[in-house]
Amino acid sequence: MPQSWKRRLREDYGRRLQSLAHATGAMRCTAWLRGGGLRGAIILMYHSVAEGDARRFVDPRNHVPAAVFEQQAAFLAKHRTVVALSQMITMLQRGDAPAPGTVVITFDDGYLDNLTTVAPVLKRYGLPATIFLPTGYIDRAETQWIDQAYTMFERRLANRITWNDNRGEHCFDLDRPEDRRMAYQAICASLLTASADGRRTMLQLLQDGLGPTEQPPKLTMSWNDVRTLVLQYPDFDIGGHTTEHIDLTQTPVEQARSEFHNCRHRIQEQTGRPPRHFSFPYGRTSSTLRMMAADAGFDSACGGGNGDAVVRSFTDIYALPRVEAPATMKRFDILTSTANTGFWRRLGR
Ligand SMILES: [Zn+2]
Repeated sequence: MPQSWKRRLREDYGRRLQSLAHATGAMRCTAWLRGGGLRGAIILMYHSVAEGDARRFVDPRNHVPAAVFEQQAAFLAKHRTVVALSQMITMLQRGDAPAPGTVVITFDDGYLDNLTTVAPVLKRYGLPATIFLPTGYIDRAETQWIDQAYTMFERRLANRITWNDNRGEHCFDLDRPEDRRMAYQAICASLLTASADGRRTMLQLLQDGLGPTEQPPKLTMSWNDVRTLVLQYPDFDIGGHTTEHIDLTQTPVEQARSEFHNCRHRIQEQTGRPPRHFSFPYGRTSSTLRMMAADAGFDSACGGGNGDAVVRSFTDIYALPRVEAPATMKRFDILTSTANTGFWRRLGR
């Protein structure tokens, strides 16, 4: 049996078992037996909720449809206690555990739809949220690298591409689905770990190699958009997400330090308020980077963690775990449950 089938079968059974444990109360029992009960918080991570034509240009892995997002917001308003990230951090700094069913909403990367689509929905339901901005991309209102790459692949003229990475040279036949999937995966892996300059060079090579027929529309906020967001929706908090959205674990120490400082400084300069919170790009972090975030003046940081998806009174506030928001309503109640932890959460992966 091919590996992918085996994996799918395992995932399917795991999720069924997880749903059963949730429905029968076995999950809640385990939480009580383990101690601490249901106290804790889930931090949800979103990216884009682009609607209409714009969604064709966003990598589906970073996208929740707008209609689904609205349903999720309605569910959270009715069945969960949504608090601002700052409120939860203040609670943790006092040594208190979040109340059962606490949820924090966060967005990464500064998508324009966060202003046009997300903010009105959250305002209607009275839900606070934090948006983490990579400030260099906001300076240039530049489309995220992943959506640039995605668009080039989707609108390509070329049917072959040659790509060099640290494992050598690869030639992919883009008319074959498996080759195309592998090419996209390999190229995204190179772009993710590249420096800002290296990434620019790679994107240009990709542009020249694939010859896309279309460019994405404006997908990223400018500083004017960010200021509009802050003025019109005061329940939105702005956080830092580096300047160049690079993998800090692959970045020389001094440059990493300036990513924290420059990002913080730029947000203060453009919005009038210093950001309190930070999120590590791609969740990649280390103990040194966590210390740098604290030294730069951030009160908390998302990313890393000890594998537990639930934030508890003893969780390191510079290694806050997050749960990626699903693109459907299916299992949303289970994913946002603080009883769903440890063995049960691993079953659903
Ligand atoms: Zn990001």
